[in-house]
Amino acid sequence: MPAESLGGREVAARLRALAAESVASSAAAGITAHFAIVVATREESAAWYVRTLSAAAARLNIECEVLALRPDATAAEIMAVLRAQSADTAVHGIVVQAPVPAGLALAELASAIEPVKDVDGASPISLGRLMAGLPTFAPATAQAVLELLDYHGVELDGRRAVVVGRSLVVGKPVAQLLLARNATVTVCHSHTADLASITRSADVLVVAVGRPRFITAEHVRPGAVVVDVGTNTSANGSLVGDVDDASVASVAGGLSPVPGGVGPATTARLLLNPATAAAGGPDLG
Ligand code: NAP
Repeated sequence: MPAESLGGREVAARLRALAAESVASSAAAGITAHFAIVVATREESAAWYVRTLSAAAARLNIECEVLALRPDATAAEIMAVLRAQSADTAVHGIVVQAPVPAGLALAELASAIEPVKDVDGASPISLGRLMAGLPTFAPATAQAVLELLDYHGVELDGRRAVVVGRSLVVGKPVAQLLLARNATVTVCHSHTADLASITRSADVLVVAVGRPRFITAEHVRPGAVVVDVGTNTSANGSLVGDVDDASVASVAGGLSPVPGGVGPATTARLLLNPATAAAGGPDLG
């Protein structure tokens, strides 16, 4: 039997409904949710994502301002913009669009964002609070993976989870969120020996590698749930995941599609965060 499709569009719709509620309650208090995206790249995929995010924000009546800097902007220049946005009481959420200029680290830049406005959980403070189990914004993609698993009723407590990838935006925060839900978590990366023997131990396998169709049926235990975070552009311009869906779907119990899986859930989650922030929460202590 082919794997159940763990779609993200229904998840996104639910998150958008929550965002709309927060936007409405802010509006009733005379506050307009306002979201700033700082962009210092001319990469077309980043520009496409910023357009998608801006359009989704507009549909939710969230003001979205794109602050475009030169692709060779310095850390000091970018951080000055982030500090100014942080100090602006009309701004509720700030993100730095990846990729950042060569030689700069996103987490370092994001340290200039006030934690209550760090809606993509990018700063070392937000990441540290996530690790400490304190209230914080976690990176939206990592949150979206958990939203997707929860929506589709995937049990995590006591189950064995394997995350392939250890970036600060996906792999590490996903591992932390799974750990917080009492999964037993293993994180793999490019130095992992005999990857397939580890991924085959997973009840829940989360893949964030950035290599098209990298995970194949031989990496997956029969019946396992597989979440594909990957977004790679194929030669013909279509979007391809990190999982070889054709072979994995015949082995897995559940598989998130690309497109239509983690992607839409991420966008919706990223917009829910400034909507929540504008409505006064969460309380970050
Ligand atoms: P990244 O920063 O490039 O990290 C990739 C990770 O994969 C690294 O930890 C790397 O290990 C690991 N890796 C590379 N080759 C490997 C191998 N042969 N075996 C095992 N692990 C390997 O990428 P990212 O930002 O986490 O993104 C990962 C994917 O998710 C990309 O396709 C990206 O486009 C996608 N993404 C999607 C969304 C969304 O909303 N859907 C959001 C963010 C990212 P090392 O640490 O050892 O180098």
